[in-house]
Amino acid sequence: MTQSQQDRPIWIISGTRPEVIKLAPVLRSLQQRFGDNAVHWISTGQHMQLESETLALFGITPHHRLPRRPEDKHIVDFDAHLIEGLTQLMRAEQPRLVVVQGDTASTFSGAFAGFHEGIPVCHVEAGLRSDSIQDPFPEESYRRMTDAMTVLHFAPSALAVQNLQSEGYPADTIYCTGNTSIDALGMVDELEARASPDDPPLPPLAVDRRLIMATVHRRESWGAPMQAICLAIRDIVRRYDDVEVILPMHVNPKVRSTLMGVLEDEPRVHLTEPMAFARFHSVMRRAYLILSDSGGISEEAPSYEVPTLILRNTTERPEAIKAGLAHLAGTDRAAVFAAASRILDDPREHEAMRGAQNPYGDGRAAERIALGIGRYLDGQQPALTEAEQFC
Ligand code: UDP
Repeated sequence: MTQSQQDRPIWIISGTRPEVIKLAPVLRSLQQRFGDNAVHWISTGQHMQLESETLALFGITPHHRLPRRPEDKHIVDFDAHLIEGLTQLMRAEQPRLVVVQGDTASTFSGAFAGFHEGIPVCHVEAGLRSDSIQDPFPEESYRRMTDAMTVLHFAPSALAVQNLQSEGYPADTIYCTGNTSIDALGMVDELEARASPDDPPLPPLAVDRRLIMATVHRRESWGAPMQAICLAIRDIVRRYDDVEVILPMHVNPKVRSTLMGVLEDEPRVHLTEPMAFARFHSVMRRAYLILSDSGGISEEAPSYEVPTLILRNTTERPEAIKAGLAHLAGTDRAAVFAAASRILDDPREHEAMRGAQNPYGDGRAAERIALGIGRYLDGQQPALTEAEQFC
C-alpha cells in the first residue's frame, strides 16, 4: 500500500440514531487499529435532532456534516440530496474505504456514492431480509441495494449469511460478526457516567407494578396501525391495574400526534421525550415486557432477558422469535392485546421467554469488523477466518 493510500481516511457514514449507536463501537475499534485520525465520521443529518443528540452522547464530533435536508421533500429528492452531497465530499476527500450500516437512506446513498466513485463500501448489518421488498418500506430495498454495492458484507447472524449466500454473493465477501448493537450495550455504563445533569428526570415509576416499555415509530405503522397499537396499549393498562407503561416518543410529529391522541391522559401511561441511550437502557433493563416496532430494541432486549412483542407484520430479525424470546404480535388491536395478555397472565409463559443467550451478538462485532477491514486493505484473503467469526 502506498503512503498516499494510507493517508486517505476511512469513512463512517451515519444519518439516524440507530446508525450512530451501532457504528460508535466500530469507530472505536477502527481507531484502535488505524489511529484516531485515520477515521472520519460523516453525518448526513437524516434525522437531524436524534442523530446529533446521539452523536453528542457518544462524544463523536463528525468531520463533515451535510447541509440541512430539504424540508418536506419526497424521499427520492432526499436520496438525491444525499447522493449529491456525499459524492462531492468523496471527490474532495478521497476516502479509501466507506463504512455504512443498516437500511436507511443514508446507508443506501453512502453506498451508491462510494460505488460510483470507485471506493470500496463495507456494509455493517448486511444480509437481513424480510420476506417482502415492500416491508419495511423503503428500508428493505435500501438494505438489498446496499448489499449489491458492497465489497465486504458484515452479516450479524448465520441467517443473514445464508440470505447473502443464497442471493449469490461470493463467500469471500461475507463475514459473520454478530450485531454491533450488542457491542454498544457494553458502552452503557461509560455513557451513564457521563450523563448530562440536564437530562429530563424520569417519571416516577412504581416499584410494585410491572413495567412495560413501549416504542413505536416506523413509517409503515403510521396512521391506522399505530392507532390500533395505541388502543391495544390502552386496553392492556385498563385490564391490568398492576401494569405501568413507559413510552419514549419519537420526534416525528405524525407519530406523536397519534400517541398523544390515544394515550396522553391515560393513567399509568408515561409518554416521554426520546431518552438518551444510557437512560433508555437503565429503564429497559427493568422492564417486565417490551412492546416495540424497533429493530434495534428487539436485538437489545434479549441481553436483559426481557420478553418482546414485535409490533410489526414481518421482521428481518427472526432470530429471537426462533429462540422463543420474542413473538411477532402484528399491529391489530385485539392481536396485540391477546399476545400481551398471554404473557401478563402466565408467569410460566413470561419465564419461558427469558433466555440466557442473546442470539444477535456477543459484544465483539466491531472488533471483527475492524480486523476484516484491516485485512481487506492489506489485500489478505479471507478477511476473517472461520474461527474468528461469530457464527
Ligand atoms: N433508543 C434510545 N432512546 C429512546 C428510544 C430508543 O436510545 O428513547 C435506542 C435503542 O436502544 C436502540 C435504538 O435507539 O438502540 C433504536 O432506534 P429506533 O427505534 O429509532 O430505530 P430502529 O432500530 O427501528 O431502526
